[in-house]
Amino acid sequence: AVVVRHRMRSSGRWAKAAAIVKELEEKCGTPIGKLRQVADAMAVEMHAGLASEGGSKLKMIISFVDNLPTGDEKGLFYALDLGGTNFRVLRVQLGGKDNRVAKQEFEEVSIPPHLMVGTSDALFDFIAAALKKFVDTEGEDSHLSPGRQRELGFTFSFPVKQSSIAAGTLIKWTKGFSIEDAVGQDVVGELTKAMERVGLDMRVAALVNDTIGTLAGGRYDNPDVIAAVILGTGTNAAYVERAHAIPKWHGLLPKSGDMVINMEWGNFRSSHLPLTEYDQAMDVESLNPGEQIFEKLISGMYLGEILRRVLCRMAEEAAFFGDTIPPKLKIPFILRTPDMSAMHHDTSSDLRVVGSKLKDILDIPNTSLKTRKLIVELCDIISIRGARLSAAGILGILKKLGRDTVREEEKQRSVIALDGGLYEHYTKFREAMESTLKELLGEASDTIVIEHSNDGSGVGAALLAASHSQYLEVEDS
Ligand code: BGC
Ligand code: MG
Repeated sequence: AVVVRHRMRSSGRWAKAAAIVKELEEKCGTPIGKLRQVADAMAVEMHAGLASEGGSKLKMIISFVDNLPTGDEKGLFYALDLGGTNFRVLRVQLGGKDNRVAKQEFEEVSIPPHLMVGTSDALFDFIAAALKKFVDTEGEDSHLSPGRQRELGFTFSFPVKQSSIAAGTLIKWTKGFSIEDAVGQDVVGELTKAMERVGLDMRVAALVNDTIGTLAGGRYDNPDVIAAVILGTGTNAAYVERAHAIPKWHGLLPKSGDMVINMEWGNFRSSHLPLTEYDQAMDVESLNPGEQIFEKLISGMYLGEILRRVLCRMAEEAAFFGDTIPPKLKIPFILRTPDMSAMHHDTSSDLRVVGSKLKDILDIPNTSLKTRKLIVELCDIISIRGARLSAAGILGILKKLGRDTVREEEKQRSVIALDGGLYEHYTKFREAMESTLKELLGEASDTIVIEHSNDGSGVGAALLAASHSQYLEVEDS
């Protein structure tokens, strides 16, 4: 074990630890004025990203989704949802206006970590094999019209430059994935080749980001849904834009007049963002330095890691855990955000959840109540900063759409579909995000509604596969 340089007296240790916490609190501060600057900068970057390709750090990707689900979708469709440590396969029986989602089955498979950093073929072979296994369980009560090829909505939750509704090349990986030979490849091509290799006859009818899937699933349930936000391992947002407000779109004006945009807001950055030395060091040492800066301040992949880095400094400079630095504390990403959340929500008088997490994860036994209290404070500072910044991001979208103020004429409701583990399970994060958005919106907050879209992205992808089915035209005529 590394010995802390100066053996410190107890009072000196506490003073130093408190100073580190105080400094963090100041650096992470997100007063309302700062959040407004972040929202304004977000809206400015949205304009720039829509104006020209490469015009902004915000890619503002054209999704080729110009029609959202109506409820008329019919038939048996599959969906594949890939974007985190798990992927899901779904089978959805759509019954039109009367029967809606008549039946839904799914299976979740965890991705072996080595496949997240291996080769494209290895990852897609694994996925295709799991999908084939799932398709083989299709029952007699599944109504695939005879002679019809199975069709799939593919939710792929990474930045993809779409060239049509069912094709697009991977721009870069995020969230701990790093498979070099897949970058620049058409991910639908990669999946299709893998399906052929495992002998699965299926056509990818729609390739969508999880935000787009969530938006589609949300709209199916509620016609007022205009945007979707994911707060999970990563973070991102999508929204419905007017096609004529997209200068870089040179295609035909869609009949609906709308085009859904995948913002890839995780890559947003601005001088107004409250970045600390911990964020900077984490970024430099990450798989994608300089990228996804907004995501690194907000999302579930990173919050626990930021906490670990602060604790490391406290161990080194304030002998926070005694005269030696606990070796496990040196391991990147060992503190996961769900563990941080569990500590943050510990309501016991002796903070025993905090105590047991420190012991079980970091091998730090017998922590004092005072130590535990400081750790809860750190959880609060780090997570609330992320929550408030995500609220500012949402305000940015509403500003871009002119929906951030109450209009006399019409009290139009704007619903935003939210999903992701951080939003769903980290209560204090969710509450802070929602109350901050209220505060930012003032009286306009009556017309803005946040709705949890529970795993809407899978069904959303199946719905978009249905509306882009190769058999649709035939049936229409
Ligand atoms: C990806 C986005 C995705 C988001 C949420 C980010 O890391 O770049 O494409 O929507 O995570 O899953
Ligand atoms: Mg869920």
